[in-house]
Amino acid sequence: MRILIVEDEAAISTYLKESLEAEYFAVDVAMDGERGSYLAQINEYDLVILDNQLPKKDGITICRELRAEGKSMPILVVSVKNETVKKVDLLDAGADDYLTKPFALSELLARVRALLRRKPSLENDVLCVGDLTLDPKRLMVKRSNREITLTKKEFMLLEYLMRNEGIVLSRGMILEHVWDMSVDIFSNTIESHILSIRKKIDDAGAGKEKLIKTISGRGYKIEA
Ligand code: CA
Repeated sequence: MRILIVEDEAAISTYLKESLEAEYFAVDVAMDGERGSYLAQINEYDLVILDNQLPKKDGITICRELRAEGKSMPILVVSVKNETVKKVDLLDAGADDYLTKPFALSELLARVRALLRRKPSLENDVLCVGDLTLDPKRLMVKRSNREITLTKKEFMLLEYLMRNEGIVLSRGMILEHVWDMSVDIFSNTIESHILSIRKKIDDAGAGKEKLIKTISGRGYKIEA
């Protein structure tokens, strides 16, 4: 899952980026409102964390713009307690939730997970496809109750496939949701990760159903 942080205080944005990456999210950062609004419009983020007081364009304006553009990703606004902007105005502008600075990292992570859970395809915290389960909170993957060790990127890719069970995902979609902007799009990084995940979850035991399918010329999907 890919997150955009729009935050002008470098210490906070760096801390949030590192903390979210440690929780297996792909993260981009924008340091002002114009850049944030631009990135949110050209990339496919699963969630945006938006500071309200920003240079060039404030958070509430960015919310309105994104909703007017038809962007429907969850938006979590972070504001300072004594700011004049009212919570109700933020929600009216299209924000899904808000947090007041200073906040505990654990609270931010809980709200991020709750907002991602609101997607209709998600019924509970643990994702299941056949006998394969992935727990985004515990960072744990199991097949037939046997624990499987994945690298961080493999975990992120598998999570994206499982959140979209039965849907064919193109290379472009996978890049948009699993990698941040630093990826080299001409490398064969998706193919090599899929190959490695397959070895671990599909080829580990004889007779097991292959869950990850290659759809020629279109992409990949996971399905039991
Ligand atoms: Ca700020």
